[in-house]
Amino acid sequence: MPAESLPPGFSTLAVHAGAAPDPTTGARVTPIYQTTSFVFENADQAAARFGLQEFGNIYSRITNPTNAVLEERIAALEGGTAALAVASGHAAQLLVFHTLLQPGETILAATKLYGGSINQLSHAFKNFGWGVTFADTDDLKAFAAAVTPQTKAIFVESIANPGGTITDLEAIANIAKTHKIPLVVDNTLASPYLVRPFEHGADIIVHSATKFLGGQGNSMGGLIVDGGTFDWRDPRYPMLSAPHAEYGGLVIAETFGNIAFALAARALGLRDLGPALSPFNAFLLLNGIETLPLRMQRHSDNALIVATHLAQHHKVDWVSYAGLPGDRYYELARKYSPLGAGAVFTFGVHGGYDAALKTVSSLKLFSLLANVGDTRSLVIHPASTTHRQLTDAQKIAAGAGPEVVRVSIGIEDVRDIIADLDQALAA
Ligand SMILES: *Cc1c(COP(=O)(O)O)cnc(C)c1O
Repeated sequence: MPAESLPPGFSTLAVHAGAAPDPTTGARVTPIYQTTSFVFENADQAAARFGLQEFGNIYSRITNPTNAVLEERIAALEGGTAALAVASGHAAQLLVFHTLLQPGETILAATKLYGGSINQLSHAFKNFGWGVTFADTDDLKAFAAAVTPQTKAIFVESIANPGGTITDLEAIANIAKTHKIPLVVDNTLASPYLVRPFEHGADIIVHSATKFLGGQGNSMGGLIVDGGTFDWRDPRYPMLSAPHAEYGGLVIAETFGNIAFALAARALGLRDLGPALSPFNAFLLLNGIETLPLRMQRHSDNALIVATHLAQHHKVDWVSYAGLPGDRYYELARKYSPLGAGAVFTFGVHGGYDAALKTVSSLKLFSLLANVGDTRSLVIHPASTTHRQLTDAQKIAAGAGPEVVRVSIGIEDVRDIIADLDQALAA
């Protein structure tokens, strides 16, 4: 059978998608194009590029060849049509909502979200005139009832922070489709190796590439992936459906079809708001993605063994890990994340706030820090840190109550991870 009759598999795409030997030097690894600007062949070409009549590099705030490889790679891994690389996960979210919302409009978001996203949506976005309504994705009726005529986007995490809970993406996508609004999925904790949101009805995917995609805790980065599915000619999305005077009356939704969203986020959002990704970070993120399938499988396998151990530990009141049989989200995990439930989960330390703080401080192999998705095992006490700015009720709704410890299980030998937890719980 000729090779081209089989589409490349995920691990092949993780190594190769978007990349080719450098045409001028033959360099096999994608070079870091550490340049701010690109020379035009002539003035006509310069004008065509500025007018969006010709694709090509102008200035690294808008496009860069190293970043372009990263964009193609994540689009391939997620099964999207195009992608945009930006400086951080939060920058990705900012550009997505900037493309979707006008002042006075709102986002319907899950209550279980990364703490920084809850802050961004509820505080920073106020200054743009964007509102946010939080609703619990576990209560689908209440979630559907929270859609109003002002709602312009639904925002959820596939595997949600901090508890590693699983969102019923198809049910949420149906709510979005009923109201003809896009479903934006933050796929950071899952990565496309575990969960494929476009296959379950998502329209746009965002990533904090800072986490599992880079995977080694060395680079900030964010990605927006366009599913190419939504009909942006809808006048409720004027950034895409209305003519742009500055581009000679161009209507992005008509001219750019199934890559319109990624193009608008770049040509209107990234161009004007400016959170560009450094090509050096793009290089490190690309290197990380090459081993994504290997790492995610080890993360998930280790996490299941550790969660099983903790569930039987006398100093642990409960473990919330969707990979554990009997967990509330176990069936959803089998459906949406069949290769494993990821690295991140929470458990409740017997004795509450003080016991949780003591445990976190006594760990030695684990690093106490505000991140997930490193090769190293990581730990944090959300109530006193990442979720500190929330009210007590918001903390509990977000799965960040006083006794809660969040771990991101690394790819070390699992017996060393367990030994460290045992000695800390004994302390
Ligand atoms: C870290 C994180 C973000 C924010 O990403 P940054 O790269 O830190 O800006 C968003 N969503 C989730 C789920 C995250 O874990």
